[in-house]
Amino acid sequence: MTASTVQANALDDARVQLAEAVAVLGYPEGLHRILGAARRETTVSVPLVRDNGDVEVFTGYRVQHSIARGPAKGGIRYSSEVNLDEVRALAMWMTWKCALLDIPYGGAKGGVDVDPRTLSPAELERLTRTYTQGISPVIGPDNDIPAPDVGTDEQTMAWMMDAYSATRGRGVPGVVTGKPLDLGGSLGRRTSTSRGVAHISLLALAKEGIAPSSATAVVQGYGKVGADAADYLAEAGVRIISVSDRFGAVHNTDGLDLSRLRAHSEERGTVAAFGGGLPIDPAAVLELDVDLLVPAAVEGVVNADNASRVCARIIVEGANGPTTAEADKILERSGVLVVPDILANAGGVVVSYFEWVQAQQGYWWTLSDVERGLDDRMTAAWSSVLDQAATTGSTLRRAAMALAVGRVARAHRARGLTH
Ligand code: GLU
Repeated sequence: MTASTVQANALDDARVQLAEAVAVLGYPEGLHRILGAARRETTVSVPLVRDNGDVEVFTGYRVQHSIARGPAKGGIRYSSEVNLDEVRALAMWMTWKCALLDIPYGGAKGGVDVDPRTLSPAELERLTRTYTQGISPVIGPDNDIPAPDVGTDEQTMAWMMDAYSATRGRGVPGVVTGKPLDLGGSLGRRTSTSRGVAHISLLALAKEGIAPSSATAVVQGYGKVGADAADYLAEAGVRIISVSDRFGAVHNTDGLDLSRLRAHSEERGTVAAFGGGLPIDPAAVLELDVDLLVPAAVEGVVNADNASRVCARIIVEGANGPTTAEADKILERSGVLVVPDILANAGGVVVSYFEWVQAQQGYWWTLSDVERGLDDRMTAAWSSVLDQAATTGSTLRRAAMALAVGRVARAHRARGLTH
């Protein structure tokens, strides 16, 4: 499958999911069109003078899918696969995620079509500052608040905050979340997505009657989300038998030694060739016979080609959009419990919200305040999705989408259908 197929599918999948929710909710076509349309799409060119003097021009995007329930919110992705349709899909998913967790935001996403691993730190900084200047007319603490996503991190957010502040002539920490602690970031933000993924995974295991101490799991995508999620799950007693990244994968039926694995991956930049397990084809990791599969990388990895070979009892979507709409149907038929991305990986944006609230109030929470708040919100969203699924006899994805889309639609209706 080529990169462009994956991206085209992400938007198709997001649209199929919305259409299903609209059908369940019985909404008219006009409201469907409002819910599906992005409120604002910004495309900017991002010229970069390389360290050797060469000039390259990248393309940057910021798509604000919805502002019906509050300012637009969502991450910034740096990847050579970024394009407008992918960003549109990811922005739409942010709208549903924020609504499902009942935080007062709409949804957005941004990105630049650059592979950050090919740039020096100085080039990355220049690129980030130019991109931020380009989108500065449409972002801001009350309009649209970026955060990290694939290929970006706290340092990227620090540069974004500084570049945006320069356009306003004053420091504006609330313009981005996921900042370093020294610039007004929140305790617990860096590990929040992973903590939420693990929390939801344990709730899903409990629902299926599986004790953590007898559970096995695999993590596809040992990166920012996957590595910490694996640690949290292992702390709870789950045996992590295989992990993968873009370069390779390792497998050990007795359970991987995660602290040694982390040291290896930090040193080599990959889990491949880790001595504490046997090498395995990264694609095969998705098909192992385990209780829990956590896809924690990018869209479309569980698709029509491999879904019938998935043996896991539960999939918890650490990534955005890892299961295609076609794969969803196959998994439903084979009885796999799929916990959708807009619930499973919402921990990041929940703590982004806490960070934004702390900045607005100028009052900083302790780590236990943040962790308790995160766990409570994830548990509440899990329970409401479970109740909705039980009452309507639907999958967790359809239940989550109906709840989220219903909330956004109510906001549109209350405002007069103009937002
Ligand atoms: N990029 C993360 C996500 O996909 C976090 C977004 C945010 O915190 O705004 O949910």
